[in-house]
Amino acid sequence: MAVEVKYDDKIFELFISKEEIEEIVVRIAKEVDAHYSDIADDIMLISILDGSFVFMADLVRQIEHQVEIQFVKLNSYDNMLSRGEVAHILKLQHSIEGKHVLVVEDIIDTGLTLEVFIEELQKHNPKSIKTCTLLSKPEIHNDIVSTDFVGREIGPEFVIGYGLDIDGRARQLPAIYRLKV
Ligand code: IMP
Repeated sequence: MAVEVKYDDKIFELFISKEEIEEIVVRIAKEVDAHYSDIADDIMLISILDGSFVFMADLVRQIEHQVEIQFVKLNSYDNMLSRGEVAHILKLQHSIEGKHVLVVEDIIDTGLTLEVFIEELQKHNPKSIKTCTLLSKPEIHNDIVSTDFVGREIGPEFVIGYGLDIDGRARQLPAIYRLKV
């Protein structure tokens, strides 16, 4: 595993190793299984593209509870000024009415994407909504949105790899790297 990677003129250093990510994913899957253990229904996992696809793929293979999965794509702008600026691009393909929904996010930065998305999901009358994120930046979002399952809290730093991108690149890196300052 490379200790440093370079994208354009930016250097990123190894931050969360492949092994640590694996441990986090296994732990979250156990927490999810424990949480839904008394519920017979399937869990409807909804992954927010693009960044969450790697985490979702790994997580779903560690969860023992029966799940259904679907993907949505949202548009979040770099300098989001208002909540109205998060738009659906790929809509829900399957009804979530009466379902136990678990939203799977890669990272929560300002929390606006998740906040707006949950408001939208509530309109479809699911039985419950829980949220799960691999990474969370509490110093930035100040818990504006509550997250039920968190892989790891990090500082207000920019990270790439394991699905997370810089200008559409670096998603395939098996570990997570942070911008070196
Ligand atoms: P939020 O609405 O500010 O919470 O932003 C959520 C989205 O911004 C995430 O799903 C990511 O796609 C992207 N994002 C936030 N922080 C980072 C980062 O450090 N690296 C890469 N993408 C990020």
